Amino acid sequence: MRIATGSISHESSTFTTVATDWNSYRNQRFGYRTGQEVLDFFRGSNTAVGGFLAGCEQHGFELVPTIFANAHPSGPTPRAIFDEILDDMLTRMGQIDRIDGVLLDLHGAMVAEGHDDADGHILAAVRERVGPEVPIIAQLDIHSNMSPLRVEAADVIIGHETYPEIDQEERGLECADIMRRILQEGLKPTLALHQIPMVWGMNQVTAHPPMRQAIEYLHEIESRPGVICGSIATCYPLADIPNLGASVYIATDNDQALAQSLADELGAWIWERRTDWQCPMPAVADILPEAEAAGKYPIIFADRDDNTGGGSPGDSTGVLKTFLAQGLQDACILYITDPETVAQCRQAGVGAELDLAVGGKSTPLQGEPVPMQATVVALSDDGKFTYAGPRNRGLDGFMGPSAHIVQNGIHVLLISEREQPFDIAFSLTMDLDPRKMRYISVKSAAHFRANFEPFAGNIYVVSEPSVHSGATLQGQFKNVGRKLYPEYDL
Ligand SMILES: [Zn+2]
Repeated sequence: MRIATGSISHESSTFTTVATDWNSYRNQRFGYRTGQEVLDFFRGSNTAVGGFLAGCEQHGFELVPTIFANAHPSGPTPRAIFDEILDDMLTRMGQIDRIDGVLLDLHGAMVAEGHDDADGHILAAVRERVGPEVPIIAQLDIHSNMSPLRVEAADVIIGHETYPEIDQEERGLECADIMRRILQEGLKPTLALHQIPMVWGMNQVTAHPPMRQAIEYLHEIESRPGVICGSIATCYPLADIPNLGASVYIATDNDQALAQSLADELGAWIWERRTDWQCPMPAVADILPEAEAAGKYPIIFADRDDNTGGGSPGDSTGVLKTFLAQGLQDACILYITDPETVAQCRQAGVGAELDLAVGGKSTPLQGEPVPMQATVVALSDDGKFTYAGPRNRGLDGFMGPSAHIVQNGIHVLLISEREQPFDIAFSLTMDLDPRKMRYISVKSAAHFRANFEPFAGNIYVVSEPSVHSGATLQGQFKNVGRKLYPEYDL
């Protein structure tokens, strides 16, 4: 059996000031990869493609790669770039002699210029290319804004069941196994979608209540007779598009009514508990006294609204200002994206003390640059390191030119490529051990947890001024076209 695979993956904020261009696809994250190098690069990694490959090899299938295109979260992809990427994948599929199945790695929250549901467009285009008989299975992120178009085009769609998302390889194996059951056991999947008029808040960490109960309910449904798989999408909230919102989607073996009733059942259960998924997001200065009183160190502040993993610029300065104003000791900020300041530090060299204006360069919405008189502790030319995992385990990361600076016990890791701290591996290469800190701020919503929770004291999700903070987004949703809970200003 010959299975074609491809990946076009992007989480697109329609509000961020960070533009997406060819550089975003070609030179960021894992680069734009084609043909055999896709398999060579991802073999053995905790990624969707890594899982597809391991599963296909297990079942004696040949996995034929097309392209891998995955940019950091940022603004919508320009139409010409999107068309060229999709055309590259479709052309390569067209060159494969007889395709028995297709395994796709998509995100589910991609917006391209002219396509508010880019993932749906990709699935429909692949369906048109391979015809109605060839099974198409796609893996999506948990932060997907699902649409009826996707359900129509694909045979099965599977979303992550973990947040922080660490089950890419596992879901990839599941996709490959369902493909085997379709091709060799006559499984006939049918997929149903239940869209929930709600934007999920930050109570969505799957290892903790109340989200754990939702995943347990999902697994109970998956264990029922006739059910192939099911998924909950908590949505990606930073896109002003008609399909914005949470959802449940379920695949059964040839029983559309059952698939729909189960999606409706779990969707209703989630809706009844809609207040449970919301979580307060105070400013650091407001929550600090409570955090100190609790006395569990290191205290971690998840600077959610400047999460580069959600498309933010990564140079907001609210937390840094508070850390300095409070005179905290053994504190660090991971990371601030500021290539300009990194260049100054590199010019001065390790050990130099210099006056800097840190962060706040991308847009005034990110706050003012913060004056620091800092010492350069460590420098890196390319910010290269190897991820410890679980996320991206074994893959190399590139933060670009980077600098570790310190002023009176407050450490800042400055980077050039916007990427969130999935683990502490990069910090360690920069002579900064977060485990020895008392206060840590991460520009990450939750992905850091998979690696940081084992040594964390208390964790607080906070909100500071940013392109994605609630105050900035007030009144900015114009294309959703329906009321969403909680009171989104539509
Ligand atoms: Zn996600």
